[in-house]
Amino acid sequence: MSTIKTTCPYCGTGCGVEARVTPTGVDIAGDSGHPANFGRLCVKGSALNETVVPEGRLLYPRIRDERGERDTRRASWDEAMDRVADGFARIIDAHGPDAVAFYVSGQVLTEDYYVANKLMKGYIGSANIDTNSRLCMSSAVAGHKRAFGEDVVPVSYEDLDHADLIVLVGSNTAWCHPVLFQRIVKAKQRRPQMKIVVIDPRRTATTELADLHLPLRPGTDVMLFNGLLHALHTGGHTDVNFVDHHTHGFQGALSCAAEHAGSIARVAAHCGLDPDLLESFYKLFGETRKVITCFSMGVNQASTGTDKVNSIINCHLLTGRIGAQGMGPFSLTGQPNAMGGREVGGLANMLAAHMDLENPEHRAIVQGFWNSPRIAERPGLRAVELFEAIEQGRIKAVWIMATNPVVSLPNADQIKRALERCELVVVSDVIENTDTTPFADVLLPAHAWGEKDGTVTNSERRISRQRPFVAPAGEARPDWWALCEVARRWGYGEAFAYSGAHEIFDEHARLTATANPTPGSDARGPFRYLNLGGLTGMDRAAFDALEPVRWPVPPDGAAATDPARHTPFSDGRYFHPDGRARFVATPPRAPGHMPAEDYPLILNTGRVRDQWHTMTRTGLAPRLASHTPEPFVDLHPEDAREAGIRAGELARISSRWGSLVVRARTSGEMPRGTLFVPIHWNAQFSSDARVGRLVNPVVDPVSGEPEFKHTPVRAEPFAVDWHGFVLSRQRLPMDGISWWTRMTGAQFTRYEVAGRQRIDNWPAMARRALGIRSEDTDWIEYVDSASGVYRAALVVDDRIEVCLFVSGCPDLPSRAWLSSLFQKDRIDNVDRIGLLVGEPLDRASDAGPTVCSCFGVGQTAIVDAIRNRGCDSVEALGAALKCGTNCGSCVPELRKLLSGAEVPA
Ligand code: SF4
Repeated sequence: MSTIKTTCPYCGTGCGVEARVTPTGVDIAGDSGHPANFGRLCVKGSALNETVVPEGRLLYPRIRDERGERDTRRASWDEAMDRVADGFARIIDAHGPDAVAFYVSGQVLTEDYYVANKLMKGYIGSANIDTNSRLCMSSAVAGHKRAFGEDVVPVSYEDLDHADLIVLVGSNTAWCHPVLFQRIVKAKQRRPQMKIVVIDPRRTATTELADLHLPLRPGTDVMLFNGLLHALHTGGHTDVNFVDHHTHGFQGALSCAAEHAGSIARVAAHCGLDPDLLESFYKLFGETRKVITCFSMGVNQASTGTDKVNSIINCHLLTGRIGAQGMGPFSLTGQPNAMGGREVGGLANMLAAHMDLENPEHRAIVQGFWNSPRIAERPGLRAVELFEAIEQGRIKAVWIMATNPVVSLPNADQIKRALERCELVVVSDVIENTDTTPFADVLLPAHAWGEKDGTVTNSERRISRQRPFVAPAGEARPDWWALCEVARRWGYGEAFAYSGAHEIFDEHARLTATANPTPGSDARGPFRYLNLGGLTGMDRAAFDALEPVRWPVPPDGAAATDPARHTPFSDGRYFHPDGRARFVATPPRAPGHMPAEDYPLILNTGRVRDQWHTMTRTGLAPRLASHTPEPFVDLHPEDAREAGIRAGELARISSRWGSLVVRARTSGEMPRGTLFVPIHWNAQFSSDARVGRLVNPVVDPVSGEPEFKHTPVRAEPFAVDWHGFVLSRQRLPMDGISWWTRMTGAQFTRYEVAGRQRIDNWPAMARRALGIRSEDTDWIEYVDSASGVYRAALVVDDRIEVCLFVSGCPDLPSRAWLSSLFQKDRIDNVDRIGLLVGEPLDRASDAGPTVCSCFGVGQTAIVDAIRNRGCDSVEALGAALKCGTNCGSCVPELRKLLSGAEVPA
């Protein structure tokens, strides 16, 4: 089969991917012609082939016949669609359009998003359609709209190559946007004079690159940027001409900054920073013209998120550092298609094509274009409010698409209560068993990556194609198709009669150009920078051939050649009616909840290097599981000591809303009083590690984005009687185990386990738990009752089938060597002795914890190369072992090992 060009479905970098189906699977490579990545992929993108597998797929529609019944049954698409259409119609007839909702996702394609939004706002007549993008970038959207009048990101990736100062705020770019980070690394190597400042409470892989790291107190960003605004003005860096001719609100923002952040000492004290460090940053920013301020979840996910965004934009407006090459505020989008969703209006407070729900003129344009019977007239409920309304019974039917709210929303147990209460829950997904699917009355199988056909838009406004290269699994269908089937049943078939994604894209592109006057055209109406008029009229073949393109693409094609159009705001015109940008006064506010006696620590949440969202896809890839095999809490050593928690043991973290149990680590990266728990683990992968349960449901008042970075919690030891792990070729039930976590290995599944009940007879217990039969004669066992150590392994035909290691303390043998035994067709006597002893007789055969996932290089090999092979640099390690030479995500860890520091496993 030929190579298909498509796009990575993970982060907002939007890397181009080349996929080729081979007789043994799928080959994946970076697309060297794609301007987002020029051939590079991070380890998640490189491992995409490991996720194109049938395991766990939802293959057919399923229906629950009666509410309260435990099981669903297989149904035809016809029956499932009747059930959805009838159920929604009955509730709308009885209670009105606002009694139903869609909850969609930054994972769906623009075409799915467009159809969902059109059906809800134009045909149902409600704006109750929100998305998990609310959880990641709605503060950026709100900030852009307040400042610019339209949600326009004014910076491109190419600008990063030209900046002299890049400020990374609330962004662990090295792990969350790895290919973009490597671009910054390369730019700095080419131009060492380029400076990098990282503003983040944590020390992360990203801070390794920083010339300055400002470890500010969590939630104090507004104060820091207000202080910068004041310092820039008093330092003579105000671009008076720009401010006078292109902005409004300067005096208000400046007075506010002067009042609250008028002295370095005051700002430094508030932010918990060294005043000299802060002054250095202010000076550097002031003296550098080409500045890009990149911001991401650490800014957006806060009850002050929108103010944080505007406090950053204020500094760019004051200095006029926007609208030219190498400068501007740059929102790094979390999800692959959050931007596409914004284009079509797939949020409860938007309309479509960057038009406003609350504007009657805009509503008339959209309703006229759709020729729809009605149009939503007021904003719908935003994610957190939406699920509160479901629990309160105000919303009685919800259709959830491509997202897992029981894991990802704050106060996540409330989501369970809401879905239990909801009269009709429809879930479209690619995976049959998630934490959300048990609540579904109707389950609809959706296309997965590799099957999907449509477009996504990345952080720099670049539209790229996702193209299919494998046949859909089972009866999986596109989400837009299912939505159209419901519309057809309601008598709207004509308005939803698309023969393919190309027709939906065409309609979306035409709407962006409708009543959108380009200079010199006859069109009248509200100007929007989002204009895809030049992409209309594509048939299927032209759509298939669509090259990655940044919007705008107006009908006259001018954007492709006119730099003034291609760099937003280069002409000094903004999208408020008067053409001016707005300063926004941002008085500092405290986060929604502050630490107190009961909950003295601050919980921060985020991603780890090799996982994505709730692991429904990345959890399938052995290569990705090996770097961080289990959920953890990272806390300051002193906080751990005070709480009686030891690194490597289990800890319970609790907030007012819920609790979890995870492995404790003290990496040295956390400041006092704060701890970090990753967002990925859930009930499919661990007994008790769903961090959404703990997160406070406080939201930003403007954007509605939840405060994922600041929940008061307490930490305490989770005492257990024994620790252990199991590697098994078969999946095992974990019933009755106090604590467990699961990861996918190459030809095995690994379980880390711990128990609170004392086990007196491990041989009997192990045989029972692992299903060992009397005829299984090749059963190797070692018991040391005095120290509580037990080891056992089952070998069948000289192949290891399962092994179990237990101890009274968490200090267990290396899993890396044991994992390697599962790759062998035969284990020999030396391996058998190693199984009994608990370690390989040849220590060199133990790779140790994985550091470089791209090439599977373990810590032992790296340390050996440093100590015994003269490798004294990242480059030397790369030459010797290849580690760090692909995506570069492990380079900070390589540096740590070179410096002699330990890397947390
Ligand atoms: S940086 Fe990695 S996860 Fe993000 S789009 Fe590129 S390959 Fe995918």
